[in-house]
Amino acid sequence: MLERTLSIIKPDAVAAGCTGKILAMIEEAGFRILALRMQRLRREQAEQFYEVHRGKHFYESLVRFMTEGPVVVMALEREDAVARLRDLMGPTDPAKAGEGTVRKLYGTNIERNAIHGSDAPETAERELRFFFSTSELV
Ligand code: GDP
Repeated sequence: MLERTLSIIKPDAVAAGCTGKILAMIEEAGFRILALRMQRLRREQAEQFYEVHRGKHFYESLVRFMTEGPVVVMALEREDAVARLRDLMGPTDPAKAGEGTVRKLYGTNIERNAIHGSDAPETAERELRFFFSTSELV
């Protein structure tokens, strides 16, 4: 079934000049880009986006990382988009990621791991609404 997901190219990968290469991987993997924007997250946005992690040992550091420079947020569509994007990304820790995954290629460590992708269809819909209005998702 056609499905949508939310992805973010994180500040480490944008700063390293890997935006274009990651977008190419995403398109070559069969995703259609429905919407895309470069922006710098405000602290409150990053805190709210990662609300489920509030209280965890890495929360403060994660919020600081996600606000340190611009990110690229995008809405993506394809069959089983959520699971297929997670496959393309690789696991949270780049050290455990398979060859050819975004995190293996461009991630540095468990925090600075280059890319975000929604972890479930319900999360995806919430995260899409967080960044995009309905009229932007064309
Ligand atoms: P994801 O779905 O693979 O992005 O992983 P999570 O939802 O569990 O975590 C969200 C983000 O928090 C990750 O992508 C990392 O940037 C960061 N993160 C997760 N676990 C850790 C950790 O143990 N230490 C640190 N410093 N950051 C973490």
